[in-house]
Amino acid sequence: ILKDKTAVVTGSTSGIGLAIARAFAAEGANVVINGFGKPEDIERERDGIEGDYGVRAIHSAADMSKPAEIAGMIGLAEETFGAVDVLVNNAGIQFVSPIEEFPPEKWEQIIAINLSSAFHALHAALPGMKARGWGRVISTASAHSLVASPFKSAYVAAKHGIVGLTKTAALEVATHGITVNCISPGYVWTPLVEGQIPDTMKARGLTREQVINDVLLHAQPTKEFVTVDQVAALAVFLCSDAASQITGTNISMDGGWTAQ
Ligand code: NAD
Repeated sequence: ILKDKTAVVTGSTSGIGLAIARAFAAEGANVVINGFGKPEDIERERDGIEGDYGVRAIHSAADMSKPAEIAGMIGLAEETFGAVDVLVNNAGIQFVSPIEEFPPEKWEQIIAINLSSAFHALHAALPGMKARGWGRVISTASAHSLVASPFKSAYVAAKHGIVGLTKTAALEVATHGITVNCISPGYVWTPLVEGQIPDTMKARGLTREQVINDVLLHAQPTKEFVTVDQVAALAVFLCSDAASQITGTNISMDGGWTAQ
């Protein structure tokens, strides 16, 4: 469903973003992957996408905390492939700490990467989508866009914020064939989740098993992690014609977490 289209997926050298980039490539899209990592690992993923799906894939090392680099990434995609038809705002980081010990610079960094980067990418990509009369924008929000957990102030604030940005953008481009939506996963087993286990152990004085079962999956009624492939399948659906009237919304995939 994405043949001859171009997708930019931020934060796609790992986890959910990588699964989305691969799923789009499987649907025929050329993809721009973005994010950090060892050059040889990134090159293996990039080359793997081209080899597995017969599309073109390039890597942008743009830092999503730097507006000029975000504009540069969209420009690179347009120069290389002629368009940005699908934009996925997915790059995100986490930091777990009580507010009074939360480093102010960490707050700024999380708001920049998890929220402001989506504004800067929209700012750069919407003119081309409007000119072509078609576009799909998907942001990876989180169950934390709807509910909070202690010690994640910046993350929860950013994720609530991206839902507001999504609604606003959706209204602005509603008559241009462009949809703008959020996907809100519960806990997905990725390096981001694995990486916050030690900090949560420290903040709450718990063992690793207690953090997994009593903190992470505590809120998820199915008691199972969401998979990256399930999130990617929803992103593909949102790009389909069947989803053309889904816009300005926030779709949960959280094992029932936010039903509580
Ligand atoms: P991950 O750590 O596996 O991947 C994050 C990606 O973002 C990596 O490619 C990393 O290189 C990139 N990145 C980080 N900082 C960046 C920066 N400054 N500029 C460019 N790229 C940067 O994480 P993930 O779990 O796949 O998370 C992806 C998104 O999904 C995030 O927005 C996260 O908040 C959200 N999310 C994750 C879960 C979960 O349980 N894993 C749940 C809900 C929402």
